[in-house]
Amino acid sequence: MKKITILLLVVSAFSCKNTQNIASKNNSDPSKYIEKISEKNLKEMLYVIASDEMEGRETGSKGQKKAGLYMIEQYKKNGTPFPKGATDYYQHIPASYLNARRNENLQDSENIWAYIEGSEKPDEVLVISAHYDHVGIQNGEIYNGADDDGSGTVALLEMAKAFAKAKKEGHGPKRSVLFLHVTGEEHGLHGSRYYSEHPLFPIANTIADINIDMIGRRDVEHAKTNNYVYVIGANRLSSDLHNAVVSQNEKYIKIDLDFKFNDPKDPNHFYERSDHYNFAKHGIPAVFFFNGVHEDYHGKDDIAEKIEYDALTKRTKLAFVVAWELANGAKRPIVDKK
Ligand SMILES: [Zn+2]
Repeated sequence: MKKITILLLVVSAFSCKNTQNIASKNNSDPSKYIEKISEKNLKEMLYVIASDEMEGRETGSKGQKKAGLYMIEQYKKNGTPFPKGATDYYQHIPASYLNARRNENLQDSENIWAYIEGSEKPDEVLVISAHYDHVGIQNGEIYNGADDDGSGTVALLEMAKAFAKAKKEGHGPKRSVLFLHVTGEEHGLHGSRYYSEHPLFPIANTIADINIDMIGRRDVEHAKTNNYVYVIGANRLSSDLHNAVVSQNEKYIKIDLDFKFNDPKDPNHFYERSDHYNFAKHGIPAVFFFNGVHEDYHGKDDIAEKIEYDALTKRTKLAFVVAWELANGAKRPIVDKK
């Protein structure tokens, strides 16, 4: 009796281990984790990030640092550590760097980072970026920056939660994922430029950047529906990146992908105007998700009450499934264009 029991235990322990191994290799379907992206959570967090308490998150301000602490608290809560090789969740940027190009008397500020280590190719890193600074207080009015870029900020937090959950259940990404909240965007993309010049992981091992800046509203071109997102830059360096966006959307999200602003001749030049550009200029394939500008862009009424949370959720899910594919695909996206 006893012997058999022991034998059975050994056998079942083995088969259990086997199942887990197979499961961790088979990350083809993210459906279960797409559902972890919750509209309710996104809304709850955005109401905090864009609250008056954060005083418009001016680079280096007390309000921005408070927002940063709240973000770190969320990462700790959802089980996403700071990156390997760092000592905490901060990448410190001295005021001298922030004021070097144009002295705007900015104070020291920080990028904030969190990290999920890859299970098979931990040295290959996908960056997902969004800026968390905004324009602060002007003429006594707080500019809350709910869409710009509170929306991208909470999208990263929610995506990290889904990846952390997947990892806990044996479905962690094959490659590493770095969640990078950059500062100083509104003053000239300073935080992302600083990261690209002082990268925690080698640029050569950085497989792509997914940048999210303003995904919670709609523009006048899409007055009838918020079921769209502008996709900018995906095909500029890598056909693989473009194909990943198109096919993951088709499979899981089915939102209208609008490529209008991806035209290099478009006079708005959005490709050069947000943080992904500091990755692209180093040859890293980058895609920028964006809802276009609206009447409250850089206005005092860019507030949490005006966010369309269904759209924010759908676009976050799109960024998540693209990230999932890039982190789990057989090959990293090939750079096949100049
Ligand atoms: Zn922005």
